Amino acid sequence: MAGLTSAAFLAKSRHSVLLLEKNEKVGGCVNSFQRDGYVFDGGIRAVENSGVLLPMLRQLDIEMELVKNDVSIGLGDEVITLRNIDSLADYQNLLAKCFPGDAGDIDTMFSAIRRISGYMDVLYGIDNPLFLDMKKDRKYLVKVLLPWLVRYLMTIRKIERLKEPVRVFLDRISDNESLVDIIAQHFFRDTPAFFALGYLKIYLDYYYPKGGVQMLPNSLVKRISDLGGEIRVSTEVKAVDPQLRQLSDEEGNTYAYKKLIWAADLKTLYRVLNLDSIEDGRIKASIVARTKAMADKKGGESVFTLYLCVDLDRQYFADIATEHLFYTPYLRGLSTAHQIGVSSKEETARSLKEYFKYNTYEIACPVLRDPDLAPPGKTGLIISTLFDYAVAREVFDKGWYEEFKLLSENTIVDILNETIYPGIKDRIVGQFSSTPLTLLREHGNSEGAITGWAFTNQEIPAETRLPRIANSVKTPIPDVFQAGQWTFSPSGLPISIITGKLAADAVRKSL
Ligand SMILES: Cc1cc2nc3c(=O)[nH]c(=O)nc-3n(C[C@H](O)[C@H](O)[C@H](O)COP(=O)(O)OP(=O)(O)OC[C@H]3O[C@@H](n4cnc5c(N)ncnc54)[C@H](O)[C@@H]3O)c2cc1C
Repeated sequence: MAGLTSAAFLAKSRHSVLLLEKNEKVGGCVNSFQRDGYVFDGGIRAVENSGVLLPMLRQLDIEMELVKNDVSIGLGDEVITLRNIDSLADYQNLLAKCFPGDAGDIDTMFSAIRRISGYMDVLYGIDNPLFLDMKKDRKYLVKVLLPWLVRYLMTIRKIERLKEPVRVFLDRISDNESLVDIIAQHFFRDTPAFFALGYLKIYLDYYYPKGGVQMLPNSLVKRISDLGGEIRVSTEVKAVDPQLRQLSDEEGNTYAYKKLIWAADLKTLYRVLNLDSIEDGRIKASIVARTKAMADKKGGESVFTLYLCVDLDRQYFADIATEHLFYTPYLRGLSTAHQIGVSSKEETARSLKEYFKYNTYEIACPVLRDPDLAPPGKTGLIISTLFDYAVAREVFDKGWYEEFKLLSENTIVDILNETIYPGIKDRIVGQFSSTPLTLLREHGNSEGAITGWAFTNQEIPAETRLPRIANSVKTPIPDVFQAGQWTFSPSGLPISIITGKLAADAVRKSL
């Protein structure tokens, strides 16, 4: 989405644009695919607006059909739906019902969540000014934007103080580890408190493109082509020569550039960069320093995803939850489970079962948003949980990968059959899964990361200060800019779009 955004805005300003994509189709982490008549989303399950997506589409004159995507949260056999900000009370009551001895702590947590939701309202409550035409919209500038800017600057300061890991933040409020787990295990390890607790507000702002999330990148492809830009798929960039200002692909074809925006995994850029061609010693030194700063840094957690084709009508699922459910089958919490061990197959099997039992699942059901996304009377489900790349890698290296996948798939099916979807096990007509290794192979992102750098890195090798986000697109390499999920943290779809636009603006300015 970062590369597509940059390309679309540059094509719109009549620059000559070429976008190179290694896969057969564009979209990266925003993709859908078909299997036996079912449409599944392979990356992000629905898209949040965050004051970014819709204004971006509008500014590019892209029309596409988006349906509202309602998020549910389930614990054990209870499910609530987040329909508006008042639904926070339903989530609070659900937790209080599940943890009756902790109502006071839950109150304290929810007053923090409400306060942070208020900050999110300021951050994302208006259309991001980056996607507005200030010359055309003077009234908006004076009436909306300037008053907002004052509130924004005050909010940013408050957010800066809430960067500690969400777990540390919640542990100060409650010593009930299970309660803290149930809230915190929705998020990556060490996710900053404001980002994690503000997410409940972001859940209210999710949409689903009719036809699958792939329709979003597809609509950008069409717009880029209409504007005269060129896209070449199945073209993997294998070398960047900054002195010659030239890229090469795996076939040895070369592509000259005036300016390059790198919108993929950042370690890959520095790996394929021909450093020897750079003559200026100072520039070379800063590139070497940047490469070193990233060398031992890790991508964030990835996901294990189970795809199910089920011989049950979509109404069965609609009666249980909405199209997008975050479900925790058991209340014990993940921190009571042992780490996944890989010293023997038996240990891996035992610890995996525990890991899956006490975890939280993101369950998406495309056919509940668009009836055309599964054969009549049938339903496709996408069920995922956070998963560590290192475990999948080790299992692969030991030769147990296929067994591990099957065991994980069947364990998850058993858990859901016992809890939220009774009887589903006997109605499955197809199943398959993806792991962090699949995501690494598909998108080329280090450790199969789904939103850039891990929060557990001692220092995150990207810009983390929102007021300085414009800096995030700069690199020490002459005429090379960067965009996407590796350039700013915390990241995700809106950051990829924002940095894509910022990189396009920087290129336009420098040209
Ligand atoms: C399962 C899942 C769930 C998610 N859920 C959410 C969510 O709820 N909310 C949210 O905000 N975000 C979510 N995300 C993250 C979000 O989708 C990504 O952060 C965002 O889409 C990344 O976009 P990007 O353009 O920065 O990078 P990518 O999508 O990684 O795109 C990079 C592109 O570069 C291509 N490429 C890589 N190397 C090369 C090369 N050498 N030559 C040519 N092309 C190359 C890749 O094939 C890919 O198409 C999720 C992601 C996943 C996978």
